[in-house]
Amino acid sequence: MIPPIANRFVAGTSPATALEHVQTLDDEGVGAILNLLGEHHTDPDAVAADVDAYRSLVDSIARTAFDACISVKPSQIGLDIGPEEFESNLERIVSHAADRGVFVWVDMEDHTTTDATLEAYELLAREYADRSARATEPATGESTEAATNGSGEAVDEGRAAVDGVLGLCLQANLKRTREDLERLADVPGKVRLVKGAYDEPKSIAYKEKDRVDEAYRTLLEDAFENRDGGIAVGSHDPEMIAYAKQLHEEHGTPYEVQMLMGVRADAQRELAADGVSVYQYVPYGSRWLSYFYRRVRERKENLLFAVRAIIS
Ligand SMILES: Cc1cc2nc3c(=O)[nH]c(=O)nc-3n(C[C@H](O)[C@H](O)[C@H](O)COP(=O)(O)OP(=O)(O)OC[C@H]3O[C@@H](n4cnc5c(N)ncnc54)[C@H](O)[C@@H]3O)c2cc1C
Repeated sequence: MIPPIANRFVAGTSPATALEHVQTLDDEGVGAILNLLGEHHTDPDAVAADVDAYRSLVDSIARTAFDACISVKPSQIGLDIGPEEFESNLERIVSHAADRGVFVWVDMEDHTTTDATLEAYELLAREYADRSARATEPATGESTEAATNGSGEAVDEGRAAVDGVLGLCLQANLKRTREDLERLADVPGKVRLVKGAYDEPKSIAYKEKDRVDEAYRTLLEDAFENRDGGIAVGSHDPEMIAYAKQLHEEHGTPYEVQMLMGVRADAQRELAADGVSVYQYVPYGSRWLSYFYRRVRERKENLLFAVRAIIS
């Protein structure tokens, strides 16, 4: 059970509670990116359990009509054991998801993981690109059962066409990211641009907020100028979101905005009502405490919210 104080940022401990939240987002025209909380698994059993949990989550999503996808952390599915373990587990998830028309995002962790994450991503994004065509065909395996919505009614199994089957997060605070974005220019899939959540060494990363913001703007320009689509603006920053809109109007490149559960929920609804494609990152699972703690620590308003919730 998650205490009410954490409910704002985490959608319960089970796939069922997470999907209930996805239903409310769906009613508001907001899509969902589901993330099973967990990272830095070194125990192969813990890795296998989370890989299986993601495959089962994919089945659950495929049985609904929700605009929902998943996002996985490399160190949750084997990267701390080794790059081969990570790649083969990512493939187990991606092959299952691709057959069911469910899109898979790969989160980016600290800079020591960037090369291995990019390599596995690029390989699988190319290999599975043509599978996205199956997104409009009936699902196979377990999900061949009739698809139903939350009320158990049958729904159309044809899902919205996706740009490839995989997407990767890139971080503006890393100096290497402009080159990484260029490297991904012809890789089928989406790129989520974020400012970067990890405290990286000065030698490889921008440390000042102004410099990170400037790098983020430059990456947005590169992406809107050079990509055909598949750009996700993973930011709560009104300035960056407005700039993406401006770049979209200049270049016509399609894009989506992604924000976290519990952060600027009104803005998410308003953007969606204005016709912007909006996705909310929805974490769930029993390992919610450290995620909640991170959210509270990163912003004074979140801390005040937590304190008010405890007092009341
Ligand atoms: C969908 C998603 C996925 C992510 N995935 C990754 C990942 O895989 N790897 C990674 O390193 N990082 C990831 N991040 C985190 C990201 O790197 C940033 O740390 C985080 O988003 C904060 O940066 P920001 O762009 O939102 O703006 P900030 O620079 O933190 O804030 C800029 C402005 O945004 C507004 N704002 C920000 N937060 C709030 C808030 N809580 N309430 C109200 N207004 C606010 C304010 O106006 C603020 O001045 C992800 C973020 C999102 C949204």
